[in-house]
Amino acid sequence: MPTYNIFTVLKQAEELLTSHNITEAKLDAEIMLCDVLNIERKILPTVREQIITNGQYTLYKNYLEQRTQRKPTAYITGNTEFMGLKYKVSPDVLIPRQDTEILVELVNDFINKNNRKKVLDLCTGSGCIAVSVAAYNKDVSLIASDISEKALNIAKENAESNNVSDRIKFIKSDIFGNINEKFDIIASNPPYVTEEEYKKLEKELYFEPKLALTADDNGLYFYKQISENAKKYLNDDGVIFLELNADLSREIESLFKNFASTKIIKDYSGLDRVLLIYN
Ligand code: GLN
Repeated sequence: MPTYNIFTVLKQAEELLTSHNITEAKLDAEIMLCDVLNIERKILPTVREQIITNGQYTLYKNYLEQRTQRKPTAYITGNTEFMGLKYKVSPDVLIPRQDTEILVELVNDFINKNNRKKVLDLCTGSGCIAVSVAAYNKDVSLIASDISEKALNIAKENAESNNVSDRIKFIKSDIFGNINEKFDIIASNPPYVTEEEYKKLEKELYFEPKLALTADDNGLYFYKQISENAKKYLNDDGVIFLELNADLSREIESLFKNFASTKIIKDYSGLDRVLLIYN
């Protein structure tokens, strides 16, 4: 086997991914290589001249091959970053999205300003909302629920690796099914992709669990369930934070007419991304 330095390997990888029409070719090539080398991405420039070992090269080739099949980088490496924290992921959970960081920041901000203590995260998946809220708010205790046992196992691991497992209780529950308490905050990024939208997704999305993506009732099923039942689980001055299907934002907002008020927050691309609902 010829010897290659990191710089050369990265260039080749970027070219390979670009030739497969992968848009974030450079970023993905770097993330996967750093996983193989077991280093943080910020130190990559300092190791450019280093020679990659045979074992590392073989593993990296394997990663690249998977990526050319359009498997998401996070499933190849088995982890991703969200709110500056490391999360384990597997195809049993949706990969945490940057969009959802907006929701977490809004929750964090609300907790800071209003000194709230009890949070429910519905459809927790990887646990990214619950774990990040716990990590950034030391006084808060949470319940995180999901219908998928496999997702809950990943979420629990993420709570442990981020040192917040003492403040999050994980419950297997179909939405509010097994929840018996009241909360100051209910947060959720529920499945909200319509069957119509599902047919037109990027290839990468089909590696993710359909259960975590699509919702019946034209994408509205979970929003309807939450709007009909949330009052029983919300303290008098409680607030609900929901990630939105941007294309359904007005329809979703109108489901919450029986609450005191609502507010839509946009994401960085100007799309309606989070709905705040005040009890
Ligand atoms: N935002 C996700 C997407 O990229 C969907 C997340 C969800 O269904 N909650 O499609």
